[in-house]
Amino acid sequence: MTDRETRHAELAGRYLPQESLERMRARAGETDRENEFFWEDLDELRAAGYLTLFVPEEFGGPGLTLNEVSRLQQRLATAAPATALAINMHLMCTGVVRAMFERGDRSLARVFEETMAGEVFAFGISEPSNDWVLQGSNTRAVPDGEGGYALTGVKIFTSLSPAWTRLIVHGLDDSDPEAPRLVYGFIERSAEGISVSEDWDVLGMRASQSRATILSGVRMPADRVARRIEPGPVPDLLTFAITANFQLLIGPVYAGVAQRALEVGAAGLKRRTSAKRGATLAEAPEFRARLAKAHLDFMAVPAQLDSVTRDFDECVNHGAGWPLRLVSARIRAGEAARRCAETALMCTGGSGFSNAQEASRLYRDAAAGLFHPPSEDAALPMYAAALLDTDE
Ligand SMILES: Cc1cc2nc3c(=O)[nH]c(=O)nc-3n(C[C@H](O)[C@H](O)[C@H](O)COP(=O)(O)OP(=O)(O)OC[C@H]3O[C@@H](n4cnc5c(N)ncnc54)[C@H](O)[C@@H]3O)c2cc1C
Repeated sequence: MTDRETRHAELAGRYLPQESLERMRARAGETDRENEFFWEDLDELRAAGYLTLFVPEEFGGPGLTLNEVSRLQQRLATAAPATALAINMHLMCTGVVRAMFERGDRSLARVFEETMAGEVFAFGISEPSNDWVLQGSNTRAVPDGEGGYALTGVKIFTSLSPAWTRLIVHGLDDSDPEAPRLVYGFIERSAEGISVSEDWDVLGMRASQSRATILSGVRMPADRVARRIEPGPVPDLLTFAITANFQLLIGPVYAGVAQRALEVGAAGLKRRTSAKRGATLAEAPEFRARLAKAHLDFMAVPAQLDSVTRDFDECVNHGAGWPLRLVSARIRAGEAARRCAETALMCTGGSGFSNAQEASRLYRDAAAGLFHPPSEDAALPMYAAALLDTDE
């Protein structure tokens, strides 16, 4: 093994040992069926120090890189995809602060201190009908006259909704119509005016409990305001760090789903027998080819994630090429998850179609990948423009 692979194996053993993965995999079926939150996984991850992965050593954490956390998240998702997707939101908030820190902006270091003190961060950005995503908001941020804001709006799909204690949110301050500002910052769970939707009965990733969060005049004090930036496509380190961490931590979740689906598919073929052939389907050429093709395509996904996360950790300057790399890595991982999950279902046969089977849950969990922004439809103009709308 290369030094890097040895390090990844050590980290896997320390933070996600095999016994722990097996326990989480066993619980994943039940939390999905009962539509419950993954409390026991959270306790286990917390005890292992998983929530502090990105915290630099000078703040008492292990200071892992995005590349290292990405590998761990792939491993976690092979056992409990919804746990991995939801814990991602906490990791992402801490990863954003870490990325800013490494690029010379130490303004949000308090997030490290709070993480070490046990706070759980979540990501409250998605809003109904806001396809500007990070570049706009339909949440109103009304100045409180002391440098803080009162926020009113709806944040949809807030993963970790039963557990978070700090939420990163954005809202629009249009008190000066000539100079509207997008306000980013943190709100605390104990603040007045926060309610959580009762409506959560979804196809997949059910244990993430990504319920809508309704904000009614919720206070964001001045010392929790992270940024005031112009709406629209304005370059900013915070939004760059959010985009990078979001894409590069969501991608590994779906890569993990794809990897596990291939394993489940292979086990299904070894188990199923053909009366006609007098052998298992693992010897049937058409089934071997089906699984092999999905495997062949999958191999590019972790390699792409590895390469892009390493570039990010090394602060490589890809300039305008960054979004192309980030979004491609996440979209490809999502596609691989859906492709491999469908393959697993076909390999496990009619029995895999049962709701009690992992193949069935993986198929449903993989479908959630269709909804993370930007969708392929939203992203394609960017890829076309990079080739076609240049001056040369
Ligand atoms: C499993 C999963 C986890 C996610 N986790 C996060 C996360 O932690 N943080 C985050 O920012 N984004 C998260 N996302 C959001 C995601 O990245 C997209 O932004 C979102 O799926 C885009 O939704 P849409 O515009 O297609 O949804 P829409 O069709 O606009 O709505 C989606 C959901 O929001 C509800 N909703 C819509 N309007 C209202 C309203 N006025 N009041 C209450 N509820 C309303 C709908 O009932 C529906 O359940 C997650 C998505 C998924 C699938």
